Amino acid sequence: MAQTIGFIGLGNMGGPMAANLVKAGHTVRGFDLVPASLEAARAEGITVAGSALAAAEGADVVITMLPAGRHVVEVWTQLAAALPAGTLLIDSSTVDVESARKAHALAEARGCLSVDAPVSGGTGGAKAGTLTFMAGGAEAAFAKAEPLLKAMGKNVFHCGAAGAGQAAKICNNMILGISMIGVSEAFALGEKLGLSHQALYDVASVSSGQCWSLTTYCPVPGPVPTSPANNGYKPGFAAALMLKDLRLAQAAALASGAATPLGAEAAQVYGLFEGAGHGGEDFSAIINMLRGQGGES
Ligand code: NAD
Repeated sequence: MAQTIGFIGLGNMGGPMAANLVKAGHTVRGFDLVPASLEAARAEGITVAGSALAAAEGADVVITMLPAGRHVVEVWTQLAAALPAGTLLIDSSTVDVESARKAHALAEARGCLSVDAPVSGGTGGAKAGTLTFMAGGAEAAFAKAEPLLKAMGKNVFHCGAAGAGQAAKICNNMILGISMIGVSEAFALGEKLGLSHQALYDVASVSSGQCWSLTTYCPVPGPVPTSPANNGYKPGFAAALMLKDLRLAQAAALASGAATPLGAEAAQVYGLFEGAGHGGEDFSAIINMLRGQGGES
């Protein structure tokens, strides 16, 4: 059923996601602080609004895709003061679990439905409409959100109550950050031992070292021709975004009392990498730092 959707945050991810909602037959009114994003959105059939509230006014559903938790809480505070009860609010940004729960509470106090639905799949997935959504929130809110999420993605999971989507996202990306460092260390060690990249790949990809960081995002050129290592480590998934997610995982670990020693170490390693000027490279370029080449921009 065609719906009227307010879409706030039309950046690298939000822009193409909103465009896919237009393609699916929905009426989308969008807002962003950056004029160039508004122009790009207009070209995709999105009606540009003058403020977040103007984009949300009269909408059945409002979706936010913003940089961080403080932006989401700020925008949802405005929305929750103005929208009618029963409106569905979806946040697809990657934010800390605490901010996600705060946003849900703002919506609930207003009688609105709410879902945290962060994504995996990057800008390529956003354009192609193949994102994976990890959702948290009440059953009724998720049921209403699911068809829209399916218009922007391929896999949609209801992970549990408020904040569960963000929890799934940061746990998954903590696995990813740690495993990429592990795979990179193994290739760097293999090089010192005179082992060819292909030989290590052939063995590990069918043995107990097998993982996504090896078989999809292999950090050395050759064995997986589509991995960013074959393209000068152009992202892909930028190291700065990996660092953001690892730091969110650390904040959650601290708040919940979970022990995540390797997650903490991974955050430190990516922190050094970003500090050396490599935040814009794909996160698999971490292998260069592990080879002792990380300081060279
Ligand atoms: P982006 O910086 O390109 O887009 C964010 C947009 O939000 C910007 O255009 C900014 O102007 C806008 N914005 C900020 N405050 C606003 C406000 N108050 N009102 C209206 N607009 C506002 O970032 P992105 O790459 O699109 O990422 C968005 C979110 O998705 C982030 O939380 C990010 O961590 C997450 N994410 C990104 C990727 C990726 O590959 N880029 C992958 C998965 C998840």
